[in-house]
Amino acid sequence: MTKLTEQAIRPAELMAGQKVAVLTDVGRLLTRAGEFVESACPACDSTTSHPKYEKHGMRYVECQQCQTFYVNPRPPPEVLDWFYQGSVNYAYWNKFIFPASETSRRERIFVPRVDRLLDICQRHAVNTGSLLEVGAGFGTFCSEVQGRNVFSRVVALEPMPDLAANCRSRGIEVIEKPVEHLTLDESERFDVVASFEVIEHLFAPARFVSLMAGMLKPGGILMVTCPNGKGFDVETLGTASNTVDHEHLNYFNPASLAALAERCGMDVLECFTPGRLDAELVRNKVLAGEFDLSGQPFLKKILIDEWDSQGQAFQDYLVSQGLSSNMWIVARKKVR
Ligand SMILES: [Zn+2]
Repeated sequence: MTKLTEQAIRPAELMAGQKVAVLTDVGRLLTRAGEFVESACPACDSTTSHPKYEKHGMRYVECQQCQTFYVNPRPPPEVLDWFYQGSVNYAYWNKFIFPASETSRRERIFVPRVDRLLDICQRHAVNTGSLLEVGAGFGTFCSEVQGRNVFSRVVALEPMPDLAANCRSRGIEVIEKPVEHLTLDESERFDVVASFEVIEHLFAPARFVSLMAGMLKPGGILMVTCPNGKGFDVETLGTASNTVDHEHLNYFNPASLAALAERCGMDVLECFTPGRLDAELVRNKVLAGEFDLSGQPFLKKILIDEWDSQGQAFQDYLVSQGLSSNMWIVARKKVR
């Protein structure tokens, strides 16, 4: 497998422009801070939380019940719709970063993602009749999975007109609707529903999981990926982590996301953290002078001084112990 590096999927020479775009976006979002609303824990609905930190004017709190952390108060759905429609950051990614890195993103992110999904289907004897991807974006995942000829039907659910058109141009069946407007008869439900890196952006993630559960046949499988708020780079870097940003409202952890799936009528089959980049992300922040490890000699030894001999083994350890910041959950809809 081709090695995944930060440079390959986020070319450094383009990321300076992206930083400016992010700050412009944050400024836009904060012009509507007066409309932000208080919210309970997105995972367990508890209202008991304590302040965690602030970054770029957004406040993060941590749930005392399940340790999920989340933006609170947070932009309500109508503000989020307005924000994403005019996002300068998204326009920058679409214009510069995605085109420059598409081949390597396909090879290093989407091909392994499809391999993993097919492996999960095989291990859990999942029916491979139909698959729905919720939030299909450019359609790279759908086109990759369609190309494997395992599923009889692959459908992209994508509400943004430009992105939906792009999916269609790749020969993918598209439903151009937001997830909350999709109603399916029992006969139209799917064997697999997948959603990659969407749930962390949402105002009401529990409703999202419950809507996706409603799109599954009994016995069907839900796969969701998102950041792990208890993962290595997120916990180590804190506000210096690029994962901690104004777009990510919810930072679940393996236990809290599993509990949420159970509450939505699912049996959790697996929850794991296959991320490859945690150690490198922290190392790169240190090398760039944006994060200081001088008070942490043990981490400095592994991530800087003895990187060539220790780095990979350390990352492997994080993955094996569920401590990477990239998380997958696989859950099966209960058969009534
Ligand atoms: Zn909670």
